[in-house]
Amino acid sequence: MQPLSIPAEPAAAGADFRCDVLVVGGGPAGSTMAALLAEAGRDVVVIEKAHHPRFHIGESLLPANAQLFDRLGVREQVEAIGMAKHGVEFVSPDHDHRQFIEFAEAWDKSMPYAWQVRRAQLDELLFRDAAKKGARTFEGQRVREVAFDGDGALAEVELADGSRRQWRARFVVDASGRDTLLANQLRCKQKNRRHNSSALYGHYTGAERLPGKLEGNITIFWFEHGWFWFIPLADGTTSIGAVCWPHYLKSRKNPLPEFFADTIALCPPLAARLAGASLVDGRVYATGNYSYGSAKSSGERFLMIGDAYAFVDPVFSSGVYLAMQSAFDGVGVVQAVLDGRPDAAALRRAFDRRVRHGPREFSWFIFRVTNPTMRDFFMSPQNPFRVKEALISLLAGDVYGRTPIWPSIRILKALYYLVSFGNLGRTVRAWQRRRINIRDVEVQGP
Ligand SMILES: Cc1cc2nc3c(=O)[nH]c(=O)nc-3n(C[C@H](O)[C@H](O)[C@H](O)COP(=O)(O)OP(=O)(O)OC[C@H]3O[C@@H](n4cnc5c(N)ncnc54)[C@H](O)[C@@H]3O)c2cc1C
Repeated sequence: MQPLSIPAEPAAAGADFRCDVLVVGGGPAGSTMAALLAEAGRDVVVIEKAHHPRFHIGESLLPANAQLFDRLGVREQVEAIGMAKHGVEFVSPDHDHRQFIEFAEAWDKSMPYAWQVRRAQLDELLFRDAAKKGARTFEGQRVREVAFDGDGALAEVELADGSRRQWRARFVVDASGRDTLLANQLRCKQKNRRHNSSALYGHYTGAERLPGKLEGNITIFWFEHGWFWFIPLADGTTSIGAVCWPHYLKSRKNPLPEFFADTIALCPPLAARLAGASLVDGRVYATGNYSYGSAKSSGERFLMIGDAYAFVDPVFSSGVYLAMQSAFDGVGVVQAVLDGRPDAAALRRAFDRRVRHGPREFSWFIFRVTNPTMRDFFMSPQNPFRVKEALISLLAGDVYGRTPIWPSIRILKALYYLVSFGNLGRTVRAWQRRRINIRDVEVQGP
C-alpha cells in the first residue's frame, strides 16, 4: 500500500483522522489497552468492525481477571452481569468419581472466585468504559490494511457503506482477535504444530446445574473425541461446547444441531445433565482449527495483543485473562515509543517475553490434558511439595504475579514424566493416539 494523502485538519465535525494510537478491534484486549492509554492522556482511537453488543464465545473467566477489573475500576459492573465461579468440576469416563477443585485452595488464597459472563455484555462494558475514559471509539468499521513508515502508520479503514478512510497513527495496537490482522499482513502467523482442535457450541435452557455455591462452576467432561465445557450463565442459560479433534468435526454428515446432539450423546454424564434442556433458537456454532501463534508480537510501531498474537485452546479458560493482561503489559511500551524514550526497545523485549510466558505455561498442560496420566492427576490431585496448590493457582490464572508456584510446578511436571514412564505402554499408546488426533485437517466454521 502506498502512503496516501492525509487531511491536515479535521475533514468534518467529529472526523479527525489523526491519533497517537490506533487500536484495531474492540474486544477485551483492545478495550483494555484503549482505556489505559486514554487514562494516561493519550489520544487513542479504537476501530471495531462489529457493533456492541455482539456475540462472542469465551464466557468463563479466571480469578486473576478480577485484579485487572479492579485496576480498570469495572469490577462492580462485571459482578452485576456475572455468575460467580468458585471452581471447576472434572468428569472423566475413566473414573467413577467427579472431582471438584476450588480456587480458594490455590497457593494465594486471595483470589477465590471468578465469573461466567455473556461476552456480549462484558465486551460492551469494557468498550464503553474505554470511551468513558476518553478513547474515541468507532463501530461498524473495519481496518483493512496498515502501512508502516518511520513516523508511525497509515491505516486504511472500510466504513459500513463501503467507503474508505485513512487514519494516521503514531502507533498501532493489533487487538483484532482471531482475525490476526497484522500477523496475516506480515505473514508471521504460524499454525501450532503441537496442538489442533475445533469446537462446536450452543446455549441451553433447563440444564441441570450443580447445587448451591457450586452452581457457577465450570464443568469439564472428557469424552473420546476431546472434552466438553458446561458453563452456567447468570440468566439461567448454560453454554455447552465440545472441543474436539478436527478430524472428528470433519466426519460430520448431518446438520450441525443434529451432529452436536449426537456428540453430546457420546458423553452420558453430560447428556444426563441436558436431559430436560432445550437448545436456544436451535443454533449451534462451529469454529475450525484454531491453535496458532505469531512469530513476532511487536515491531517498532506496533504491538499484537490477545488473540491477535496467539491462541492455544480454551480448556483452562485463559483467553480473556491473557488478552487483558497483554494490554496491561503492553501499555508501557506504547507510552515509551510515543515519548521517544531510550528504554523503549528494552521494554519491548520485556513485553515479547511476557506475552509468550502465559500461553507457554498453559500450553504445557493443554497439550497433555487428554493424556491418561494428566487426567489421573486432575482426577486425584495430591499435594506433596504444594503441587496441588500450585496447579490450582495456574488454573486461577496466577501466572504473572509474585506467587512462588514455579518450583512446585516443575516438581509436578517431573512427577508427570515419572508416572508416564512407569506406565510406558499406556503413555506410548496415548501419544500415538494424540499424534493421529492432531493431524492437520481443514475444518471451516459455518
Ligand atoms: C471455542 C472457544 C471457546 C473459548 N472459551 C473461552 C473461555 O471460556 N474463557 C476465556 O477466557 N476465553 C475463551 N476463549 C478465548 C477467548 O474468546 C479469546 O481469547 C478472547 O476473546 C480474546 O480477546 P481479544 O480481545 O484478543 O479478541 P476478541 O475478543 O476476538 O476481540 C477482537 C475484536 O476485534 C474485532 N476485529 C477483528 N478484526 C477487525 C478489523 N480488521 N477491524 C476492526 N475490528 C476488528 C472483532 O470484531 C472483535 O470484536 C474461547 C475461544 C474459543 C474459540
